[in-house]
Order: sequence, then structure tokens, then C-alpha cells
Amino acid sequence: MSYKMVWLNSFNLSEDVIQGLNNTVACPPKYLPYRVMPGDLEVALGEDSYEQATAILMLLFHLHCADVYVKVTHCIGGTIQDRPLKEGFPQGPLKCNMCGKMINPEDLRYDLLFEIVEALEFANKPTDQQPTPSDGKE
Ligand SMILES: [Zn+2]
Repeated sequence: MSYKMVWLNSFNLSEDVIQGLNNTVACPPKYLPYRVMPGDLEVALGEDSYEQATAILMLLFHLHCADVYVKVTHCIGGTIQDRPLKEGFPQGPLKCNMCGKMINPEDLRYDLLFEIVEALEFANKPTDQQPTPSDGKE
């Protein structure tokens, strides 16, 4: 069973945080596709980490490990549409499946939804640098 390694060195995260991300995002291939939203990563990354969570998930999109959707909602607990990001935001009013009203685009709520399509594992890439003899003299 192979997992794609996703290096997170540029995010400067501790091993504990990375393990938390693996517990949240990584999953066995049999559970794919697996859906996750940036807010789901706050357990691992801490509060106010939405932007960082989005950056990490966009990295998965860039690596072809995830597809990105715009989740369109109005009332809490209902989803009107999961639109592929390439289709952009809705232009016309959409019917809310919770309250049944037609809602104008400016009154809709939007979030990003990522569908993980490849088994992956986060890690900090080990550096290639081996201690040189001079390092031991300090
Ligand atoms: Zn509604």
C-alpha cells in the first residue's frame, strides 16, 4: 500500500502538529474519496488557522491529491451545492434546501471543500545534510 508523501517543511510545523494533520486528513485508500474542509484542520493546527489550513489543502490540489469545490450554503446544516472551483461562484439565486427560499448570491455562504482522491501522508522532508567532521568540534 503506497501513500504519497506530502512535504510540509515550508509551513514550519512540529512533528506533533503534522501527526495531527495525518489523523485528520490522511486515510486508507478504501475510504477515498474523503472530504475535508479547512475548518476541520483546526483541531490539528489550532485556532485561527483557517488560512494555513487552506494553504495546506491547496497544496494537495496542486499535487493532484485533491479536488476543490465551493460549498454553497444558506441555513446551517444544509448544503445547496458543492460546485467545482473551476466553475466559480453562482451567478443567480439558488433555492435553499433547508428554508426553501430563493437566495441571492450575496446572501449565500461559501466555504471550500476538498475531496482527497489519493492516499497521502504529511511529513517534514528529512534534510540531506549529514553532519560533517567539523560539526563535531563545537
Ligand atoms: Zn435557507
